Amino acid sequence: MRADIVTIFPDFFRGPLDHGITRRAAEMGLVKIAVHDLRQFTHDKHRTVDDRPFGGGEGMVLKPEPIFECLEVLGLASHAERLSGAVKESVILLSPQGERFTQKMAAELSGLDRLVLICGRYEGVDERVADFLGDREISIGDYVLSGGELAAAVIIEAVTRLLPGAVGNEASTRQESFTAQRGGGEVTENAPDSTCGSGGLLDYPHYTRPAEFRGMAVPEVLINGNHQEIRSWRRAQALKKTLRNRPDLLEGVELSPEDKKLVERMKRSAQ
Ligand code: SAM
Repeated sequence: MRADIVTIFPDFFRGPLDHGITRRAAEMGLVKIAVHDLRQFTHDKHRTVDDRPFGGGEGMVLKPEPIFECLEVLGLASHAERLSGAVKESVILLSPQGERFTQKMAAELSGLDRLVLICGRYEGVDERVADFLGDREISIGDYVLSGGELAAAVIIEAVTRLLPGAVGNEASTRQESFTAQRGGGEVTENAPDSTCGSGGLLDYPHYTRPAEFRGMAVPEVLINGNHQEIRSWRRAQALKKTLRNRPDLLEGVELSPEDKKLVERMKRSAQ
């Protein structure tokens, strides 16, 4: 996959994407990330990228010309071809007004060959970029950041770790919070992890050594080696955490009769 970031602060990306899995994926050639400085696509002495809004109002708006010119040199397919799905390319405008970014969206984007992320600043970006250049607008959450750079880094990180080969143990990305696929990998009696996919729930709690730390003990069930008990405990914990922190997620999850009984019991004990 190739990811192009369009920004007025190219130096912002020195650091965030140079660590861990993103770095490893780049070194392995799974992803190539290119950062483009919008000011290089200006033609005036002051390298102006913004201007006052028509109609008045607060702040400045990113001008359309440098953004259109920058994308023209990237050699993308046309807007129409991209929207038709004929090519695996997407131009994304980062915006708090966009569709909310989710794990499902990250998985969709990880299937593309090319991702272009346009980072807004100030009051935002001239709307013609959203209308005639961008294929979709994406928000990373219901809050307002000063620019799209952090949002671009978030999306690249979430997408890169889903590229085949990026994470050492691929089964782990199929078992995480929000991941709809339940299980993942072979299901065997001796593999407690392989049957604990989140199935769209939040992930179950993880513990490591020491088994006891400052009087805080790891749950006994995880130490006793009974895989069936471990599976049941993890499922119950995932349900409990989801019910407590993100009850909205339970709506979209397939619950077994056993799960349903557990959830009802948890709801009653919380009253
Ligand atoms: N005036 C805009 C509004 O009220 O919707 C806010 C503009 S914001 C200060 C500047 C830029 O930051 C946006 O153009 C966008 O690129 C980026 N940004 C801010 N919040 C974001 C979010 N939640 N998700 C993605 N990008 C965001």
